Amino acid sequence: MKKKILVLGGGPCGLSAAWELSRYGHDVAVIEKESRVGGLCITNEYKGYRFDLGGHRFISKNKELVENVCEMMGDELLTADRKSVILLKGKTFDYPLSAKDIFLKMDIWTNLGAFTSYLIATVSKVVLQKKDISFEDWIVNRFGRTLYNLFFGPYTEKLWGISPKLISTDWASQRISLLNLKDVLFRLFKLKKVTPRTYAKGYFYPKKGIGQMFDIMSEEISGMGGKIVLNAAVSRIQVNNNNVKSVCYTQHGVTRTIDCDAVISTIPLTDLVKAFPGHLTQDVIQHTALLKFRSVRFLNILVDLPDISDNTWMYVSEGKYITTRIQEPKRRSPFSAPEGKTSVMLEIPCNENDEIWNCPKESLLNRCLADLKELGIDIQEKVIDCFTTSVTHGYPVYSLDYAMHRQKLFDFLDRYENLITCGRQGTFLYIFMDTAMEMGITAAQNLMLDNVCKKVDVQLMRSEKELIEATSVTA
Ligand SMILES: Cc1cc2nc3c(=O)[nH]c(=O)nc-3n(C[C@H](O)[C@H](O)[C@H](O)COP(=O)(O)OP(=O)(O)OC[C@H]3O[C@@H](n4cnc5c(N)ncnc54)[C@H](O)[C@@H]3O)c2cc1C
Repeated sequence: MKKKILVLGGGPCGLSAAWELSRYGHDVAVIEKESRVGGLCITNEYKGYRFDLGGHRFISKNKELVENVCEMMGDELLTADRKSVILLKGKTFDYPLSAKDIFLKMDIWTNLGAFTSYLIATVSKVVLQKKDISFEDWIVNRFGRTLYNLFFGPYTEKLWGISPKLISTDWASQRISLLNLKDVLFRLFKLKKVTPRTYAKGYFYPKKGIGQMFDIMSEEISGMGGKIVLNAAVSRIQVNNNNVKSVCYTQHGVTRTIDCDAVISTIPLTDLVKAFPGHLTQDVIQHTALLKFRSVRFLNILVDLPDISDNTWMYVSEGKYITTRIQEPKRRSPFSAPEGKTSVMLEIPCNENDEIWNCPKESLLNRCLADLKELGIDIQEKVIDCFTTSVTHGYPVYSLDYAMHRQKLFDFLDRYENLITCGRQGTFLYIFMDTAMEMGITAAQNLMLDNVCKKVDVQLMRSEKELIEATSVTA
C-alpha cells in the first residue's frame, strides 16, 4: 500500500531513505532546514574553488551501497588513495601511528619513557585490576602515559573541548586501531604475525566535491516524484495516541503543517524530542539537556601555489594549535581548485558562540597562518582569499554517560509506532556517511515491511565496541 512518508532532514541519511522509498513508489517529502540538501556533506564553491565541510571521502564495506553509488555517479566519481600524516614537534609521523616511526623519529628518552610507562600500565592493569572508565583510562591502560600525553590526550581534548577523563571509552574502542603496545612491538620486530586492523587507504570522491553525490541523489528523488522542501525547519510533531499524524515546519516565517502516515527523522535527536513539547516529562527534558554536540569552524584558504604537499590529511595533535586537521582539497579531486592553484582547509573544533565561533575571519586567518608557518606550511605570501564555514552539529559529544541519556530519549520516542529516528544526529552516534546512508535505507525498508526488525537494530547499526574503520591515533 502506498504510504505518505515524511523524511525530516536532507543529509545523507534522509536522502538515502527518501531515495529507497521513492524507488518503491511511496509518496515521499523531505523537509530540510537549509536552502540545499547534503547536511554535513555539502560542498561550497567560491571563485572556482571547492571546499567540503571538512574534506569527506566515501568508503563502505556494503557492496550493494557502493554499487548503487557508483551507478548513480557514473563518470563523476573518482578514486583516490589517501596519505595522512601527523605533524608533531616539528616532525612528520605516519598516520595511522606506526611504531617504527615513533621509534626512529622520537629521541631515546621519549622511547624509553614510552616503553617504561607501557610496562607500568600493563603491570598496574593486572595487579590493581584497573578498569577503563574513560577515554583516558582506555588509552593509558593500553599504550601507557607517555604516548597518551604525546599523541592521544591533547588531540582528543582539542576535538571534544572537554577533558578525556570525561569522555566515554566507546569513542576509543571504535576509533583506535593499535590494540596495545605489545602488538606495536611485535609488529615492529616482526616477532609475531599480528593481524593489523585494516586501514582503508583507497576511497571514492566525486569530481565536484562530496556534495555532488547528494545533489545527484536529490535530483533522482525528484525525478521519481519525491518532494524536497527546502528552507523548512521542523518545529513540532503532532500525534494522535501513539501515532504521528502530522509535522509542522517553519518556512520563510510561515508555519505549515503536513500530514503523514509515517516519519523517518534524521534531525538532531534532541531537537526531535523538543518537537513534542506537550508530552515531555521533566526527566526527558533533563536527559535532552545533557546531550551536547561539538561544533566546527572551517577556514578555507585560496592559495596561489600549484601544490602544498602530497598529504590528504595532516593531523595536528598539539593543543597550542587550534586546528585538528589540515587538508588540501586538490588531493581528493583536481577539480577542487583552478589550474595551477591550490587551497588549504583547516578544521577548527569549537562550541557554538564561543570565542572561535565568533572570531572575525581576518583574525582567524592571521592566527592560522602563523600556526601553519610553525608547522612548516608557509603560505602567508600566497593567500588569494579566504572564507569560513561552520556547522553546529559536527560531533555528538560522547560524555561518560551519553549512552544512558540517549537511551532515555529513544525510550521516549519508542512509543510513537510510525516514527523512527536515525542518522548521525538522530541517533547521536559518531558514524560516517556510508553508515548514515545504510541506516536511512534500512529504516525505509523496515517501514515498508511494517517494522519487521526492532527500531533499535536500525538505530544502533555499527555501534559495536569494535573498530569502525581502522585508524590509529585519532579520527
Ligand atoms: C569534519 C567532518 C568530516 C567528516 N568526514 C567524513 C568522511 O570523510 N567520510 C565520511 O563517510 N563521513 C565523514 N563525516 C561524517 C558525515 O558527514 C556524516 O556521517 C553524515 O553527514 C551524516 O549524515 P546524516 O544525514 O545522518 O546527518 P547530517 O548530514 O547532519 O544531515 C542532517 C540534516 O538535517 C537537517 N536538519 C537539522 N535540523 C533540522 C530541522 N529542525 N528541520 C529540518 N531539517 C533539519 C540538517 O540541515 C541536515 O541537512 C565527517 C563529519 C565531519 C563533521
